[in-house]
Amino acid sequence: LERLYSFMIRLRLPGGRLTPAEWIALHNITGEHSTGVIKITTRQTVQLHGILKSHIKPTIAAFDRMKLDSIAACGDVNRNVMVSAHPKFSAIHEEVFQYADKISYLLLPKTRAYYEIWLDEEKLLEVNEEDNLYQDRYLPRKFKIAIAIPPYNDVDVFTNDVGIIAIIEDNKLIGFNIAAGGGMGTTHGNPDTYPRLASVLGFIKVEDLEKVVYEIATTQRDYGNRTDRKLSRLKYTMDRVGVDVFRAEVEKRSGVTFQPAKPAVFTTRDDWYGWQQNHEGLWYYTMFVESGRLYDDDNVQFKKACLEIAESGKAMFRFTSNQNLIVGDVKEEDKAFVDEVLTKYGVIAQTEKASALRRSALACVALNTCPLALAEAQRYLPSLIDKIDEVMMKHGLQDEGITIRMTGCPNGCARPYISEIGFIGTALGHYNMYLGADAVGYRLNKIYKENLDEAAILKELDVLLESFKTKRLQKESFGDFIMREGIV
Ligand code: SF4
Repeated sequence: LERLYSFMIRLRLPGGRLTPAEWIALHNITGEHSTGVIKITTRQTVQLHGILKSHIKPTIAAFDRMKLDSIAACGDVNRNVMVSAHPKFSAIHEEVFQYADKISYLLLPKTRAYYEIWLDEEKLLEVNEEDNLYQDRYLPRKFKIAIAIPPYNDVDVFTNDVGIIAIIEDNKLIGFNIAAGGGMGTTHGNPDTYPRLASVLGFIKVEDLEKVVYEIATTQRDYGNRTDRKLSRLKYTMDRVGVDVFRAEVEKRSGVTFQPAKPAVFTTRDDWYGWQQNHEGLWYYTMFVESGRLYDDDNVQFKKACLEIAESGKAMFRFTSNQNLIVGDVKEEDKAFVDEVLTKYGVIAQTEKASALRRSALACVALNTCPLALAEAQRYLPSLIDKIDEVMMKHGLQDEGITIRMTGCPNGCARPYISEIGFIGTALGHYNMYLGADAVGYRLNKIYKENLDEAAILKELDVLLESFKTKRLQKESFGDFIMREGIV
């Protein structure tokens, strides 16, 4: 007898958008082939767990029929390209959004292996597949790209290998600031590994974006460390060769000279929950989805609500990089219908009752599905937040949206090193605690205490939050307070 293997599939979904027809397909595929939970990832896409070996090909074929794929959703290639999710912030959102697709396509591996292995496009061996980017070696390690539209930094743009910041003047997209060399992952006990925020290389014009992004990838391909995978991300290459040398190499390869970066200010990275209207009068409802898990239970039926809305054809679906979901592009005359469905299935109540702390939290999947996990994250963080909420209430801080992020290992999938309070699993029930990042994604946190269990976490937070309540300066964020007080 063969073991009962089960797998996870993650979609490549640049910008995280699905049409109603695609949503219906996702709903049905999830029900037929996986655990039934639609899991929104921290990279603005979805993954399905518990797919038995015999279901892999039917799952991929069903997605393929909707022109959805899983190519380069993992591996030493460019991963899912993120873009600020909410169109509320800018009239040029749609224009910027298109670049997620263009860049994803530009950096897609050219091999047909996916189609040959999973979709019965025969010809399995002996192929000369020209791929100028990945050639015969791919990249040294995974490669992540995000596009942010200021003032909205929901994508945590500086945590990416390439961070692209849209520059808008007089309601016109004039170009992009380009940052490179961000990355979160570290390894416990390996002091050579560290999280790093991307360095700003400069400003480029709109028409130069694809050339520059492509050549940042080729430079990493050729200069990245291929002898030690722990030190092979672009962040280590940047620090080894130096930012100026790296910038000059990209300029030489692309023929584009970086101009000084343009001013761009981020003021928020939280999602805009509830109803918001964009410049064209279309409506967007952002629902809070704890740990990105869409399911149906006695309290809330996310999947039923989304299916009914998709079947009506009255809304598009957008995943956010904060693991939430927006039903959007809703016309004024359809808003009441969508609102009624969201109310009927408990989605609005679920969103409104979540505390500010809970709404700002992120957790990776960790146990029991991630083989790298040393501790719980998405299954545990909700109950820890219940207890931290009590501490917040005790100190009159219940309306503060302090960012808390938890991961089951130092790989950092939920970007914990850039949260105001970060928990990184060290062993079952134990976490290293990090403090001091700012609230919008400009500054990393630092380690505060190691190997804390729940009781120790709550004790530490009780003291810190009491101090924050009594000593904070007006409107000072928790992270800024921690740094000003020299706590880390
Ligand atoms: Fe990523 Fe580690 Fe969490 Fe697994 S346990 S999802 S590798 S951070």
